[in-house]
Amino acid sequence: MDTQMLIDGRFEKGTEIEEKILNPKTGETILELPEASLAQVDAAVDAAEKAFDSWSATTPSQRAAYLLAIADAIEKDAAGFATLESLNCGKPINAVINDEIPAIVDCWRFFAGAVRSLHAPVAGEYLPGHTSMVRRDPIGVIGSIAPWNYPLMMMAWKLAPAIAGGNTVVFKPSEQTPLTALKMAKLLADILPAGVVNVVLGRGESVGNCLINNPKIGMVSITGDIATGKKVLAAAAKTVKRTHLELGGKAPVIVYDDADLEAVVAGIRTFGFYNAGQDCTAACRIYASDKVYDRFVADLASAVSTLKFNQADDTENEIGPLISKRQRDRVESFVTRASEHKHMEIVTGGKVAGEKGFFYTPTVVAGALQDDEIVRREVFGPVVSVTRFSETDDAIAWANDSDYGLASSVWTKDISRAMKTAARLRYGCTWINTHFMLCNEMPHGGLKQSGYGKDMSVYALEDYTAVRHVMIAH
Ligand code: NAD
Repeated sequence: MDTQMLIDGRFEKGTEIEEKILNPKTGETILELPEASLAQVDAAVDAAEKAFDSWSATTPSQRAAYLLAIADAIEKDAAGFATLESLNCGKPINAVINDEIPAIVDCWRFFAGAVRSLHAPVAGEYLPGHTSMVRRDPIGVIGSIAPWNYPLMMMAWKLAPAIAGGNTVVFKPSEQTPLTALKMAKLLADILPAGVVNVVLGRGESVGNCLINNPKIGMVSITGDIATGKKVLAAAAKTVKRTHLELGGKAPVIVYDDADLEAVVAGIRTFGFYNAGQDCTAACRIYASDKVYDRFVADLASAVSTLKFNQADDTENEIGPLISKRQRDRVESFVTRASEHKHMEIVTGGKVAGEKGFFYTPTVVAGALQDDEIVRREVFGPVVSVTRFSETDDAIAWANDSDYGLASSVWTKDISRAMKTAARLRYGCTWINTHFMLCNEMPHGGLKQSGYGKDMSVYALEDYTAVRHVMIAH
């Protein structure tokens, strides 16, 4: 197993406290990894700064060739990456192999193509005697900080557009899930020039904090909690850094009375519980029309109760455990508090599961009201709430009444109703008669406190580059 950080093309062990890396399926320690010293973080930033001059001078086609080589190398070792990601995150191996790795490889390939076809206004004489042109240039050194729910995918989402755009990067994985980042560090060192990508390990409050405060960093890209995003903004204010923030969600799902209920139930069974609900777009906050509410809740409870997890044969598992005991306890406490209110009913689940590891039974909380905590706060676990509505305007107003603004969905057979609702929802994404589906060509990112800046798509490439005007007088 690769255990060393990557700084300036060299592999180094951290010199500070050791962090236990756990297997969430068993709770056992896989290994202990020392975190970077603050001097090592600064050295990584210096290495990225040194590499910037030559990397930013490469052509899009040269950078595209590097990205394609990275994609090919990941694909070649897909089983190795999937096994490690599954071990560190507890994800079912099939989910990583069939869903995540192909999307990750495609992300690297997408940005290899996208960087060769960026657009700008036509160069020309907008003032007599002067020719103007627009450039899209890299920003410099990017500090990239990832969460634990999709370690390898977040690494692709952050690194691919950044280096395609000509930037260099210091990347910090979550302290809980660094294993595939270390394997990627090995792969990247074999392909990229030294210093273009550096990987440092450690906790947010030490290594992350050092990175976001380094004055040589031109932009911080972070996926994490709203509270962490606010810390990044405060640090960025000191040197006016750019920021790219993906900060969670609480996705509303509006189920109209004419929806195909079978499809909605199947959709929420999958998209509310994928990755054990540890997903910022999870279909977790359902508003169901009172004309279909009773049948919908009964059907959803029965479908969710069949989700397979904690089976000895991992290929049978549909979802895994929570990432940590802390996260499992947090999820449990949300459900316990909900169950203390008479108007809510736990129609399935609501229990810690398994003798070891951090499993929680897939849970549906029915009868939730708009002001209930379970409707308002991000649980980030296998728990969905269902709220009854009778007026369309209420459903849309409640859906929008959230600090978050990342993803949403509408379920109806009436296309006009769907389009009118989609136009009124204040979310970075609205799906119609589906949820959760992402593709590398389309943008992903939030409104409101879910943050700003897009992952995936040409918009990500634009976020990781600066528009510049060059004018010549003649
Ligand atoms: P977190 O905010 O605790 O940690 C995210 C990363 O930030 C980790 O690498 C952590 O070490 C680092 N960090 C923490 N404090 C820091 C500090 N003071 N300075 C610098 N770095 C710091 O979040 P998490 O628990 O790892 O991830 C779960 C959260 O991420 C959820 O809220 C989830 O919704 C969100 N998320 C959002 C998206 C999205 O696309 N919007 C995707 C995945 C996860």
